[in-house]
Amino acid sequence: MVDIKENIQSIRYRIEKACDKAGRSTDEVTLLAVSKTRPIEDVKEAYKNGITEFGENKVVEICDKQPLLPYAKWHMIGHLQRNKAKKVIDKICMLHSLDSIALAEELQKNAEKSGLDFLNTLIEVNVAREESKYGIFAEKLPYFVDELSKYNKIHIRGLMTVAPFVENPEENRSIFSEIRELALDISRNLPHNSDMAVLSMGMSNDFESAIMEGATIVRIGTDIFGNRGGTLL
Ligand SMILES: *Cc1c(COP(=O)(O)O)cnc(C)c1O
Repeated sequence: MVDIKENIQSIRYRIEKACDKAGRSTDEVTLLAVSKTRPIEDVKEAYKNGITEFGENKVVEICDKQPLLPYAKWHMIGHLQRNKAKKVIDKICMLHSLDSIALAEELQKNAEKSGLDFLNTLIEVNVAREESKYGIFAEKLPYFVDELSKYNKIHIRGLMTVAPFVENPEENRSIFSEIRELALDISRNLPHNSDMAVLSMGMSNDFESAIMEGATIVRIGTDIFGNRGGTLL
């Protein structure tokens, strides 16, 4: 049996430890519970134990769960197909996976239509250049940010990355530090309605390394809710 309450306590403790080691305050790091594939009972159990922000990677799951727990904050962390932008735009507090101008255009269009002030977004960067992963390559970032300045409904808040699975989380330190440096470079030249305050990086396997390198959101599924089973991401 997975004890969600105990798991949350243990993750919070590990986040504190990592923040201590990095000389950072725990207030700087948001624990985002990744609830994809989990039943609403598990999500409610986490909420009861102090988790207020949840991450999902499928639009259908956000649409199902958000109305059942509307006081929580919902984040879209998975690849967003353009034709689903409309469905999710008013249910999330942040999109972590902006990775194309075409998607930005669709979000802008739908935000205008629905009267949404703006959408907080992170740009997903594929630092390790893995073919299986979404996200733009680092060298495209300046051009991409420049293009995004046309879309006033999109506020860029930072960067997100999904690091490779590694046996030793220390191996991902260089990936996380590259994200931090990219954010710093980009922040010198941002459109007025954007900043680079958020670095969404680190998962169950490597969040401590990510905190060492400046993560402000860690996305944790397995270590809170247990194994998802099968090969389902
Ligand atoms: C599933 C997922 C996570 C959480 O992964 P765990 O290893 O279960 O902690 C984090 N980020 C993204 C984008 C995911 O899809």
